[in-house]
Parts: sequence; structure tokens; C-alpha cells
Amino acid sequence: MKKYKHIFFDLDHTLYDFERSTFETLSELCDKYNLTDKGIPVFKYFYNRYLEINDRFWGQYRKGKIEKPFLNVERFHVTFQEFGIDDRDFAGKFATEYVENAPLKNTLFPGAHETLEYLQDKYILHLITNGFEEVQEKKLNTTGLRKYFKTITTSEEAGVKKPDPAIFHYALSKAGAVPEESLMIGDNLEVDILGAKNVGMDQMFFNIEKTPHNGKITFEISELIEIRGLL
Ligand SMILES: [Mg+2]
Repeated sequence: MKKYKHIFFDLDHTLYDFERSTFETLSELCDKYNLTDKGIPVFKYFYNRYLEINDRFWGQYRKGKIEKPFLNVERFHVTFQEFGIDDRDFAGKFATEYVENAPLKNTLFPGAHETLEYLQDKYILHLITNGFEEVQEKKLNTTGLRKYFKTITTSEEAGVKKPDPAIFHYALSKAGAVPEESLMIGDNLEVDILGAKNVGMDQMFFNIEKTPHNGKITFEISELIEIRGLL
């Protein structure tokens, strides 16, 4: 297939197994601070609540309703509160350690390197990510992914987050690409897929859970290795 010249990837939950890195890092921090003795006897309960609360804060962050430092601390503060630990200073310390340690986990999805190696000979590869700039930079170093990408666009640099069309336009222009010859690969229907569609890019949905949906999408995969057969 030679239709595409540029391929844009999302990072978290697409190439980088963010859940695994989060799970491992939080579990280690809970051990470190002995949270089993302080109201969190079962880590999994804490983890599941954290994921829900974190999603809620990220939704607000994407809409520009809250700022990054607030998001970072409050997602832990609110989760701890539910387990009877109401200590914003501790939540702040915990949040800082989480942000420092999580990107040091080398948790890529299976086939990430092989797929990118295959693609880099045929296409020009780029990243568009809503993650925090310094965190994404660390992850790219830890995982060795940096070398595959010609450009990296973060929402912090672009000033807006996916699915805002402006970040896609920004990334396309940085890449010297036009939408008609570009494909966006990502795990989030609203943020990546609809976002790309709205600026005229083709899309590939990485649907690892095989979640049913009604979206009309150019390609859909549930494992990264499927990409080789499609592109
Ligand atoms: Mg993602």
C-alpha cells in the first residue's frame, strides 16, 4: 500500500502499555508507604478507583478546565480520601514519585519494536500525544522508541489537546504532511480516531479490548503485529 506517506502514532495505550506501567508503579509505591496498614488493604480496589478518578480528571484536563499540577495531585488526593486518607501533602509526594517512576518502566505492547522497524522503511513516522512533555520524553528514552519518529508533537507544545483539530494541523505542518497522505493510529475513539477523521486523515483504531462500536473507521486492529499485514 503506497497511499500513505506519513504515519502518526499515539503513544499511551497504543505503543506504550500505560496500564501496566501504572499498575506496577502504584503497587510499588503502595508497598513503599505501607498503605495496607493505612486504609488500603487490597491494592486492586485502590487501583480500580484510581483509574476511574484519574479518567475523570483527565477529561476535565482535556477540556482545559483544570491545570496539570492540580490534575496530578488531586487524582491521588481524591482516591486516598475514599480510603480514609485525607492528606494533600502526602498525595503530592506520592504523585511526584509516581510521575518520576512510571515512565522508567519499559512496558511496551508486544510487537511495538518489530512493527515500528517494519514501518520506518516504508513511511515517515510521527507521534502525537496528549501526555506531559517531560514524561513522554522519559518514556521514549526508557523504551528506545525515540529513534523511529521524525517528529513528536505533544499537547503541551501545540497548546491544545487531541481531539482538537488544531493539534492535528500543528503536527501535520510540523511533519510537512497533508491529511490525504497521512494515517493516525491510536487507541481512543474520540481523542485519536474522531480527531483525525475531523481533519481528513485516515485512521487505524487499536482496539485491544475488541470493544464493540458504531464508528466508521479506515482500519481496526487488536494487536500491533496486524499492522504489517495492512500497511
Ligand atoms: Mg492513547
